[in-house]
Amino acid sequence: MSEYPPSYYAASAELFARRAALAGDAAADVVVVGGGYTGLSAALASAEAGFSTVLVEARRIGWGASGRNGGQMIPGMRWAATDLLDKFGVERARALIALGFEATCRVRDRISRHGISCDLCDGHFQAACKPAHLAAMRREVELLESLVGYSAARIVERDEVPTVVATEAYHGGMLDSEGGHLHPLNYAIGLARAAEAAGVTIFEETPALAMDHSGPAIVITPGGRITARHGILACDAEVGALEPKLRQVMMPVINYNVATRVLTDAEARALIPSNASIAESRFVLNYYRLSADNRLIFGGGEKYSPRPPADIAAFVRPHIERIFPQLRGIEIEYGWGGTIGVTMNRLPHFGRIGNTLFAHGYSGHGVLLTTLAGELMVEALRGRPERFDMVADLPTRGFPGGALLRHPLYVAGMLWYALRDRL
Ligand SMILES: Cc1cc2nc3c(=O)[nH]c(=O)nc-3n(C[C@H](O)[C@H](O)[C@H](O)COP(=O)(O)OP(=O)(O)OC[C@H]3O[C@@H](n4cnc5c(N)ncnc54)[C@H](O)[C@@H]3O)c2cc1C
Repeated sequence: MSEYPPSYYAASAELFARRAALAGDAAADVVVVGGGYTGLSAALASAEAGFSTVLVEARRIGWGASGRNGGQMIPGMRWAATDLLDKFGVERARALIALGFEATCRVRDRISRHGISCDLCDGHFQAACKPAHLAAMRREVELLESLVGYSAARIVERDEVPTVVATEAYHGGMLDSEGGHLHPLNYAIGLARAAEAAGVTIFEETPALAMDHSGPAIVITPGGRITARHGILACDAEVGALEPKLRQVMMPVINYNVATRVLTDAEARALIPSNASIAESRFVLNYYRLSADNRLIFGGGEKYSPRPPADIAAFVRPHIERIFPQLRGIEIEYGWGGTIGVTMNRLPHFGRIGNTLFAHGYSGHGVLLTTLAGELMVEALRGRPERFDMVADLPTRGFPGGALLRHPLYVAGMLWYALRDRL
């Protein structure tokens, strides 16, 4: 039996009783594989559209990245507007940026419409680690305003940083009032409850062992098969195990988070007076925020072997103490890892195999984009594929190096970027 791996989120999540595994055959209009945000959002939208919908999850709802992430709601696509503009031109960049911001509205709408209690807080701060990063953020704020009329982001100058976060590590940054943070596992559980209320049947501990896309979508599981008119594949970092064709576009990268002891109200307010989520502008970044019960939830450090560090707290602690020397020796009560599905160009990868649609590869930027991704897949199933196709048409390259060399080559690339961060 799979239980949630130990983490602060597993320890503080709302109870979601284990749903039964599939036993016997089933039929539906839509079968969804994967019970993270992408799959849950797709299943919910599918049921709302009137499709009979079945979702299979290999372990528990939110067992993957959706139940273990930093909880940071980072508005927009992973690429800066300037990069989207340079690469795709005005019209396409404008449409992609608008889609990125719509993702924020979709999550906020789901939370309020379904009464999901997931500790939603407003404000995301992108911290400039170098003066050049702050200069790039100034251009970004201007461009967002002129290109799509986005006015929720503003520049924080260096002398104003202490009103956002109590550290001397940054040169300023960009504060976005539409961003924020949430309890990631509770958001997943809330989506699952909403999906069930809309009519979705959820089977947990039901891994898809194989999928046939030649006619209807057929999902083979240990306890039976599901036949559906349409399939939705939402396995993110693990998609390659089910669809080897997709393995080349996906690099699973493990990242570690910790939660400190509960801080007093005064300590918490002194540490992050804005209560924003904070992510650094470096390529290999620290990201952190306060939980609802005043713990510092901190992700940081780089580790490229799949073997976890012997002591996750000891692995992450130096990064906390570099940003917050005032927290030297702070008790760390939880440490956990999760796998990020990363694509070569860090943009999400959407597409089709026969009657099955897939969406994955949010590259560390999926708390917001996933809800929209699930909805865009259902929009496409309902005969309006334009917005799904806009993302599916983004350029995709597989990781170089084939089965043996792709990971070492990726590590070499990351070490190069990590070195550039330090220059
Ligand atoms: C440590 C960490 C920190 C992160 N921090 C942030 C952050 O702060 N902000 C942000 O925007 N993003 C962050 N991310 C990324 C974000 O969590 C992901 O982009 C997002 O959760 C992906 O959701 P998903 O539903 O596509 O995939 P997942 O949540 O991984 O869900 C996929 C599900 O599919 C199931 N599955 C896999 N194979 C099968 C199969 N064969 N049959 C049935 N089920 C299967 C898995 O068990 C899993 O539950 C972070 C990720 C990690 C790991």
